[in-house]
Amino acid sequence: MPGAPTVKPQTRRITEPRVCRTAKAQALRTVEARTCRTLKARVRPTVKAMAPTTAGDQVPTITMLRRPGHFTARPGLFITQPSTGDFLSVRGGDVVFVRPPDASRETPDTFWKLRVNDIYRGEKKPYRDQYFLLGTWYYAREDLQDVTLSDGFDRKEIVTILDEMELLSSNHQDVISSSTVEDACRLYNLDTKGRSSLTGEIPHDRWYSRFNLNITFCQGKALGFIEGLDDICSCHYPHNPRVVQERFCGSCCKWFHFECCRPNPDSPSSPSRLIDRILTIPCARGKLHKSQHDWELTGTAQNLDLIRTWYQENPDASDRLVKDKMEEISFEFFRLSMQDLTEKRLCPVCGTEL
Ligand SMILES: [Zn+2]
Ligand SMILES: [Zn+2]
Repeated sequence: MPGAPTVKPQTRRITEPRVCRTAKAQALRTVEARTCRTLKARVRPTVKAMAPTTAGDQVPTITMLRRPGHFTARPGLFITQPSTGDFLSVRGGDVVFVRPPDASRETPDTFWKLRVNDIYRGEKKPYRDQYFLLGTWYYAREDLQDVTLSDGFDRKEIVTILDEMELLSSNHQDVISSSTVEDACRLYNLDTKGRSSLTGEIPHDRWYSRFNLNITFCQGKALGFIEGLDDICSCHYPHNPRVVQERFCGSCCKWFHFECCRPNPDSPSSPSRLIDRILTIPCARGKLHKSQHDWELTGTAQNLDLIRTWYQENPDASDRLVKDKMEEISFEFFRLSMQDLTEKRLCPVCGTEL
């Protein structure tokens, strides 16, 4: 009998959902942490329903997965994608699109997103030779409609704070059948505190995550608290990062909304040397230009650091050489930034020019 054919995973383009740009930032008062910690029994979640399955599949509970001899942990798994027949490699730490039980929700916008923690194979009936993924759900803003958020939030407000492509990393664990995995989801992490995000650029049509959702299930209801919202700017108002511009203050080591910064009464004249004009581009992120660009969410710091470091090593560089370096990093980035980010502001806390 010939050996099993070698299965070679194929790379497949992840279908990207369209982006709607209608959401507008709106102020919201700080939310206090208040999760329901009193309950003993965490009920089976009603949000995200039960672990999605295809017809005929049974899905074990988290406790059952740990029964000795019933399941074995696996480092990875190849899944045949039902719609294309391609093979998808899944390992712990990956994020995957999961088909919800509701058949009407079948676009990447509405597929559920799960971070895979562990992979198990069933060893005994009724789970023998089936694969299950233990993971934590990401919540899109639409998924929050069944979640009661801590005081201060309502549905309308949360839609103005969270971006359409934003996902909240949650502590909601679940087990799903490997047969419900549709595709891999490329997810970016947006560092909201640091000056320069390690992510680099986040393409405007890709999913990203900046906040954690702490969720508790209490008597059939889901109670949620979004962590980190109270540490924003001096106004403590969260915002949608696609529609609000922020400036970074190096003295305070903190981001501030452009609108919360004080106007700068001294408008300095534009330097004549190209490198000096570049080095006055502010450390900014958010809505920076009229049209949307991939560098906006993570900000200007990374590209500015690249050219600043290069110039320190080449202090005698001519405008021509500076231009070549701009071209190498991103000519469009420097051109638009010098054109659109000319208005200087003052830090609302320490008065540093931003
Ligand atoms: Zn502010
Ligand atoms: Zn400051």
